[in-house]
Amino acid sequence: EGCREGGGDMAARGAGGLCAQGAGGLALLGLAPGAPSCPHGPALLFVKTSQGREEGRRFYACSACRDRKDCNFFQWEDEKVSEARLAAREEYNRNHQPSFTHRQNVERYNNFVLLPLSKRRFCQECQQLLLPAEWEKHSDHQFLCDVSSAQLKSPSQLLYPLENKKTNAQYLFADRSCQFLLNLIIDLGFRRVLSVGTPRLHEMIQSKASQEEDFRVRSLLLDIDFRYSQFYTEDEFCHYNMFNHYFFGREASYETCRKFLNQDNDERVIMVTDPPFGGLVEALASSFKKLMTMWKETEKEDHNNQEMPMFWIFPYFFESRILEFFPSFSMMDYQVDYDNHALYKHGKTGRRQSPVRIFTNLTPSMIVLPVEEGYRFCAICQRYVSSGNQHCEICDSCTSKDGRRWKHCPLCKKCVKPSWFHCYNCNCCALQNHTCEKTGAGCYVCGKAGHKRSTCPSLS
Ligand code: SAH
Ligand code: ZN
Ligand code: ZN
Ligand code: ZN
Ligand code: ZN
Repeated sequence: EGCREGGGDMAARGAGGLCAQGAGGLALLGLAPGAPSCPHGPALLFVKTSQGREEGRRFYACSACRDRKDCNFFQWEDEKVSEARLAAREEYNRNHQPSFTHRQNVERYNNFVLLPLSKRRFCQECQQLLLPAEWEKHSDHQFLCDVSSAQLKSPSQLLYPLENKKTNAQYLFADRSCQFLLNLIIDLGFRRVLSVGTPRLHEMIQSKASQEEDFRVRSLLLDIDFRYSQFYTEDEFCHYNMFNHYFFGREASYETCRKFLNQDNDERVIMVTDPPFGGLVEALASSFKKLMTMWKETEKEDHNNQEMPMFWIFPYFFESRILEFFPSFSMMDYQVDYDNHALYKHGKTGRRQSPVRIFTNLTPSMIVLPVEEGYRFCAICQRYVSSGNQHCEICDSCTSKDGRRWKHCPLCKKCVKPSWFHCYNCNCCALQNHTCEKTGAGCYVCGKAGHKRSTCPSLS
């Protein structure tokens, strides 16, 4: 692939989520019919932009991997690809699929649980449950021995989180947040959870379902991390790419998902998703709309004009982007905490604030946030808000996005972060030590030139 150097780099940046309309950014044109495929399913079409205009040749790049090291697929849209190269690519894609199928992994699991504890080994290097005949092959790898049934029920603890920021960005819910989400789901009356990129929530549901007799909730996990296929059957896990709505297990797996969404006897469905924060909001939105359509198609007449209920867990600074695609959504003040993310974790002191929120199309007043964690109900806004979030009389809403008390700027005619001051040069509020009219690459959040994400005016 001759153009890998320049193009590949653009691809990496494109999928890295540079602002779609940025000055000198990249625009995602989306899933094109007849797009070429990489091992991660159909590639997405991108174009380089300058001052909001398309500039240069359009190209395809991997939908899932934002790091070239993980997948370097690149092709110009108008590039002629020879038969020989197509064949080579197909073979490459085949060779880059997991070594066992999901079916095989289920069978391996069934054999694994029959083994006595002393023979249950997990290879930490290959991230794989081992059967005794395979020990030899892994003899110079690190094992975990005596894998218990409890450990098999918590694969998210057994597997190491894929933290490489660009591709998987696997950040696991802190127990408190996971428990909160599940209780909320149950209190709202849902009985089925489509867990899209939320393995820990799925795991909590699965493990309760196997332990508590009167626990009625079921979950289907959709995730690109195929390691989970070692622990769940084909009815519990689908290998799925949420950036291009691609089911790796093709029709059978698609059908599993469709059936799961086809609720009967009053088992209401909610989708919960916690995608990598790297960007590509438009690609995610397009996939989620397709999942919503799968739900709708299976709907009975009585839900005609409704949307599938959804929790989209994402940082607050993406609010405007999410609302662009889902105008019916609102952002909740609840701060979602993570186990393995130093920044998004409530320390013992509770000083660190997580920027991650729940976006939902459910009526905000129904989302009850824990009073013992400081949330309170604002009767005017009709929703629960952070303790520090003051109702602003002028904006007529509780305006804080980050949990701190914000202040109203009469010149900007809106509330801004407490650390901001009105700048008469820029004609908007900003940090005191910002550089006025700074030029350069567009802002990550709104795409406009002149500021970076941290001082983006659209954040308020
Ligand atoms: N907080 C969640 C995990 C979120 S991390 C929990 O604790 O359950 C993001 C998740 O999305 C990971 O499980 C990761 O494997 C998955 N993921 C990353 N890229 C994906 C893609 N392209 N398609 C589907 N899932 C993806
Ligand atoms: Zn790829
Ligand atoms: Zn209010
Ligand atoms: Zn205000
Ligand atoms: Zn101002």
